[in-house]
Amino acid sequence: MAQIIIKNVRKEFGDFTAVKDSSFTIEDGEFFMLLGPSGCGKTTTLRMIAGLELPTSGEIYLDSEEISQKPPSQRDIAFVFQMFALYPHMNVRKNLSYPLVSQGMPRAAVKAKVAEVASILGIEKILNKPVGGLSGGDRQRVALGRAIVRDPKAFMMDEPLGALDAEFREHMAEELRALHDRMGATTVYVTHDQLEAMQMGDKIVVMNNAVVEQFGTPQEIYDKPATMFVADFIGSPSMNFLRYEGSVNVGAHAIELNGQVLGVPRQMDNATGKLVFGVRPEHVLLNDDGAYRGEVLATEYLGTTQIITLDTPNGELKARAPSGQVATVGEKIGLTFKSDAVTLFEENTGRALRSELNDEVLSNG
Ligand code: ATP
Repeated sequence: MAQIIIKNVRKEFGDFTAVKDSSFTIEDGEFFMLLGPSGCGKTTTLRMIAGLELPTSGEIYLDSEEISQKPPSQRDIAFVFQMFALYPHMNVRKNLSYPLVSQGMPRAAVKAKVAEVASILGIEKILNKPVGGLSGGDRQRVALGRAIVRDPKAFMMDEPLGALDAEFREHMAEELRALHDRMGATTVYVTHDQLEAMQMGDKIVVMNNAVVEQFGTPQEIYDKPATMFVADFIGSPSMNFLRYEGSVNVGAHAIELNGQVLGVPRQMDNATGKLVFGVRPEHVLLNDDGAYRGEVLATEYLGTTQIITLDTPNGELKARAPSGQVATVGEKIGLTFKSDAVTLFEENTGRALRSELNDEVLSNG
């Protein structure tokens, strides 16, 4: 069992606040992603869970026990660093045994444990090799092995695949995820790569400027973004934002955009002023019936689909269309939007307005 609760955790370095009052829960066995742009406070959050930094305020619980101010050695959490710190003068077996021998574990037990971990990772054949000559992937496996042998309650990983090239990175990501599924150990994983987070994570926390913007499953975060930041950061191309001035009332099913009435999910908030109509590229349909029109600026062929960039009265917009659909630069095309997938935002705060689509997610988040 390893449930981790983060409650109002804050970290200040002098005058600078790296993490502002974060709260979220990592359930036992989850592969949990901390996602956000560089400098947003992901690593600091991870280091506070591991005990490498102490929070300025707030609490961290591991299986209901408060560990906020405990040193790393008393937390039973393994930290896997980006730069794998292996002992270069030892072979693989010794690298794996060392953490156990230094804990005073009897030799026979060490041998059995190393054999078990080597088998989990598929590295039995390289146990007697020096780590110096290993491939990147094998070094990665040995580094993970060093964390696994101690049977920690949870693993912390800080961009463990960051240094790898794209193809190999994808392979190792699959391997890591498969390993997690076999072992079922709670894992917290830092990345700035939204695709990696979406592919690997059971849950994602999206951070920006020291603040947790949203926390949920990949699908919740993608389909029901709580803020414009999340809507923009997740997805490629990201969500389109059509800006307009207007008002919405509780119960509204439609809004008016440049004189055209467009359907939206039933609204649950009132708002007036600068608003944003948010729609993902795959929910924009190029359709002669659409009275709302845009001019084709560019097309980008992607194989089965294409991305069509259009100029509209409310800003530039990207549509994902089947690659067979003909769209010529300069042509004016009617657009319709999948109304039940639209999110309205308040531009000044960047927050999503509550609707039938996102109410449950926003109320929980
Ligand atoms: P990256 O992916 O670039 O590492 P990150 O989201 O992991 O980004 P953090 O490493 O948590 O970000 O850093 C958050 C902010 O806190 C940064 O502006 C960083 O410069 C600052 N920071 C981190 N550690 C310290 C420290 N020991 N002293 C002062 N400032 C720090």
